Amino acid sequence: MSDYKIILPESEIPTHWYNIAADLDEPFAAVLAPNGQPATADDLSAIFPDALIEQEMSTERWIEIPDPVREVYKLWRPTPLFRAHRLEQRLGTPAKIYYKNESSSAAGSHKPNSALPQAYYNKQSGRTRLTTETGAGQWGSSIAWAGQMFGLEVMVYMVKVSYDQKPFRRSMMHTWGAEVVASPSDLTAAGRAQLAINPDTSGSLGMAISEAVEDAASRADSSYTLGSVLNHVLLHQTIIGQEAIKQFELAGDYPDVIFAPCGGGSNFAGVAFPFLADKAAGKSVELVAVEPSSCPSLTRGHFAYDFGDTAGLTPMMLMYTLGHDFVPPGIHAGGLRYHGTAPQLAQLVERDLIKAVAVDQIPTFEAGVIFAQTEGIIPAPESNHAIRAAIDEALRCKESGEEKTIFFNLSGHGHFDMFSYDRYFSGELEDYPLPQSAIDEALEHLPKT
Ligand SMILES: *Cc1c(COP(=O)(O)O)cnc(C)c1O
Repeated sequence: MSDYKIILPESEIPTHWYNIAADLDEPFAAVLAPNGQPATADDLSAIFPDALIEQEMSTERWIEIPDPVREVYKLWRPTPLFRAHRLEQRLGTPAKIYYKNESSSAAGSHKPNSALPQAYYNKQSGRTRLTTETGAGQWGSSIAWAGQMFGLEVMVYMVKVSYDQKPFRRSMMHTWGAEVVASPSDLTAAGRAQLAINPDTSGSLGMAISEAVEDAASRADSSYTLGSVLNHVLLHQTIIGQEAIKQFELAGDYPDVIFAPCGGGSNFAGVAFPFLADKAAGKSVELVAVEPSSCPSLTRGHFAYDFGDTAGLTPMMLMYTLGHDFVPPGIHAGGLRYHGTAPQLAQLVERDLIKAVAVDQIPTFEAGVIFAQTEGIIPAPESNHAIRAAIDEALRCKESGEEKTIFFNLSGHGHFDMFSYDRYFSGELEDYPLPQSAIDEALEHLPKT
């Protein structure tokens, strides 16, 4: 039997991030400022440091990772690539299944890959405080830890439903020195406006982003940080795919199909973009983003310019969107409750270079439990989406006899999501099929450009 895990030495942590914008025949569409003109660096400088704005707009293929960031990456990277032998046996599939274990970071997910460089560049720029939003608490934890690593204060607006469901994610952020409030809050005008509309709202990532952006824009010492969607975040995550390519070389194998869960799109892009470069060079590999059927931006959303947040404070981006005021059902994969998608990812889906599928909530937990019972690690509810899709592919291979190589990203562990697993075990979870009318309605709320 081949190895269980394929491990790279610290010296193989990538030295550069891979920028897909360098490798396109047709450039990505411009981001638009409120006046409808392409956004400039000046439009972004109120809330981001120059180094990150440069990365946001860069078309350089390789961007060097600063040494102090690589030093912290060494605490857990390179992450292992696992061959899921026991999962394969349980499914009785002729397919080979591999997964990259991004749950091994301090915060428990892929998110520190970007939180650390964001904190580092902000520190370099002289800012002393970071604001952010968090859904499930994974990003808030990551930026809290990163703030601690580089000596910055951190203020987290946490989506209300997660604030209530995940008290230990809050404790984690406090342990790393961050302040956490439930969003919408009465600390910002955007939050107060949402509370006036519906005092009992469960909140959403879009609302929390509005609050964090407003807070950062109103204070010179503060920057806003975002855990997904933006080009520089996707860029930072490409260390996952770069490591995986080296690991598959060591294993003497190569994936036929790659799955990753997709909320804003950062872990998917982090895995997929380096493989997309391989694909452009002639390799055959299928790349599939997996999203919740209750929040199906890539599979059922509109391809249009829209805001990244509920209040419309961010620039407008060309992406697949359900409308910036869409409030996703309170599914337990909080990190996937976002109305839009990373514009880079959306535009590659639109160009047919990347595929997307949607899966229901209950089958994702079923898949997560099968994974936990075979491979041991209890996955984050977000990761369960990729596992569902990988298991479905492996079962199709069982039918057809194909010996495909399936690879998925285990984006995080679920140690702070056991409440959600309990609800699954007691039969209290629901699926939320989204009526077409809800999707049509969003069209009317898209900004005119
Ligand atoms: C945040 C999160 C996601 C979704 O975010 P992306 O930006 O789409 O990667 C997926 N899995 C986990 C564990 C997360 O914390």
